Amino acid sequence: MKIGVLALQGDFAEHISMLKKIGVETAEVRLPEHLNGLDGLIIPGGESTTIGKLAAAYNLMEPACASSDGPHAIWGTCAGAIFLSNDIGRDQPLLGLMNIRVRRNAFGRQIDSFETDLEIDELFKATGTEHPYHAVFIRAPIIESVGGNAKVLSALEDGRIVAAQEGHLLATSFHPELTNDTRFHEYFISLAS
Ligand code: GLN
Repeated sequence: MKIGVLALQGDFAEHISMLKKIGVETAEVRLPEHLNGLDGLIIPGGESTTIGKLAAAYNLMEPACASSDGPHAIWGTCAGAIFLSNDIGRDQPLLGLMNIRVRRNAFGRQIDSFETDLEIDELFKATGTEHPYHAVFIRAPIIESVGGNAKVLSALEDGRIVAAQEGHLLATSFHPELTNDTRFHEYFISLAS
């Protein structure tokens, strides 16, 4: 099992530490050839416009989408979720792999960042746990709607969607790499294997 983390911009180092914590082999992905032989790819939080521009400049867009030798499971956290989506209502480079409509900076500015506990049944089932998942939101997007085969994994109390899954694709508005809770990373590994 080898998981790559897109290492162009954002908090890729934190994802790598989480993966090491659960004993998974990791690779930093900066060039198309770094995608070869990966079981999964994580796109970190950061600035989605910057990640998109750099991914296009380094010719990573197409190889990340074509799954023959590359990763078959992809997980985007925060800016990564934006980059995975196929509709954000404005023009910027997107992988466009996931049928979710995302709104950037949906909770306001940096100062409106927050933390909250989430119920994520699928995650609890997969990891045999029950305690709530503590989620960190930093200038986070929301998932306005899911289409295609995408399903909602978790929503806030007011119904706003913050995690979704479509087959082997995963999107979270929040940052599991900024906590000590490895359950989301374990869940992603189960999708990648
Ligand atoms: N606000 C950023 C964007 O729109 C995402 C922030 C984050 O990844 N924490 O790209």
